[in-house]
Amino acid sequence: MSDDDTTPAGTNWAGNIHYAASAVIAPTSVDELQRAVTSNDKVTALGSRHSFNRVADTDGVQVTLGAMPAFVEIDESKRVARVAAGLTHAQAAAELDAKGWALANMASLPHISVAGAVSTGTHGSGVRNPSLAQSVVGVEIVRASGDIEAVGADDPSLDAHRVGIGALGVITALHLAIEPRFEVAQTVHTGLGWDVVEERFEEIMSAGYSVSMFTGFGDDGIRQIWTKRRTDRDDPTVDLAALGAVAGVEAIHPVPGSDVAGVTEQQGRPGPWHERLPHFRSAFTPSAGAEIQCEYLLPAADAVDAIANLRAIGAELAPVLYVSEIRRIAADTAWLAPSSERDSVAMHFTFHRDDAAVAAVLPLIDDALAPFDARPHWGKVSSMTPERMHAVFPRLEAFAALADEKDRGGRFRNAFLRAVLG
Ligand SMILES: Cc1cc2nc3c(=O)[nH]c(=O)nc-3n(C[C@H](O)[C@H](O)[C@H](O)COP(=O)(O)OP(=O)(O)OC[C@H]3O[C@@H](n4cnc5c(N)ncnc54)[C@H](O)[C@@H]3O)c2cc1C
Repeated sequence: MSDDDTTPAGTNWAGNIHYAASAVIAPTSVDELQRAVTSNDKVTALGSRHSFNRVADTDGVQVTLGAMPAFVEIDESKRVARVAAGLTHAQAAAELDAKGWALANMASLPHISVAGAVSTGTHGSGVRNPSLAQSVVGVEIVRASGDIEAVGADDPSLDAHRVGIGALGVITALHLAIEPRFEVAQTVHTGLGWDVVEERFEEIMSAGYSVSMFTGFGDDGIRQIWTKRRTDRDDPTVDLAALGAVAGVEAIHPVPGSDVAGVTEQQGRPGPWHERLPHFRSAFTPSAGAEIQCEYLLPAADAVDAIANLRAIGAELAPVLYVSEIRRIAADTAWLAPSSERDSVAMHFTFHRDDAAVAAVLPLIDDALAPFDARPHWGKVSSMTPERMHAVFPRLEAFAALADEKDRGGRFRNAFLRAVLG
């Protein structure tokens, strides 16, 4: 968890949000958590503070699970792990790996909390990998009444709970599908022309278990291609060198000039899944934070057209953009996953932490991606209106009705949720 979990009225990781919360409560048991929920009018669960918008804010109190008992309990016969919600992915993954197990995928940063990640539809990459929330097969959650409920795989509302944006209660444990541990070899190539990408986008994105492209949407095309191959699978390959890309011989950071000590091992050296699937090492605390992220997910079939629209605004993006990342995500069943019910491509932007400059380019991105009914990431910034959110997330109304039912007094309904859910 982040260093300042007990700081009242702190900030998010990036420092672009100063929380309005009057206090941060850190219960040490489920009993204490239940009391914290029922004794406060307004309560919002706080994960590791890695979101860039006000989804984790409240004008009441935030509760962090950082002081709750940490556990990863493995049921080998069911291939399910019961994981304490406040653990980071790095903590859960190390424990799973030590016992011979793995999660299917991870996000770029392993420092993010397990519950916070799934609650916003966080994803890694891979044409066959849905978002991290799809691994959730059960949820233990404290409701506004203080009651704790278990939502199992046979409960029709599980798909609503998978990506719950904090609106349904405070999750205490997640039951995650696991598989035997595996190894991954990561390579990074640089330099791929737009003409090749236009012609062979899906083929390149399929050439590995997880593939990411980094670009600035400028004339230099794709700057880096990160390919993560499972050593236990025979995925198709693409000879990127034959297409003009150059294999990295030294560690490469997605943002030129940044410290390569923080990136996971490259040059094709195989290693444990949790030390290759994220781009960044868990032992390395990313010092930056001086950034703001925005991301939209749209149908994978529209990737090339969407890239063309973003290239058309490349000059406007350039002064405020560190780098963009393009990833593929398989369709989810979670109601509010930005990748819900459609194989998706994600267009991600890491901007300089300049609120005004970012606010100026967000509508341009919105417009560029609107023809594809792009859906924003719940944990990142966007300029999309609530009306438009309802148009692009077809289950949002049903989700709002469920949130009303589970949280009648609106204890968990912060300003962000009020704007989107009503
Ligand atoms: C450097 C960096 C890299 C990132 N990389 C990726 C990436 O690769 N892919 C991607 O998709 N996203 C990525 N993100 C975005 C990030 O995964 C999401 O913002 C995620 O929600 C952050 O999790 P958190 O624990 O920090 O949650 P917070 O920001 O603290 O909270 C987010 C939401 O989760 C809810 N929540 C948290 N804990 C609980 C709980 N116990 N019960 C109920 N609700 C809860 C909060 O109420 C809030 O609604 C990245 C962010 C950063 C800063």
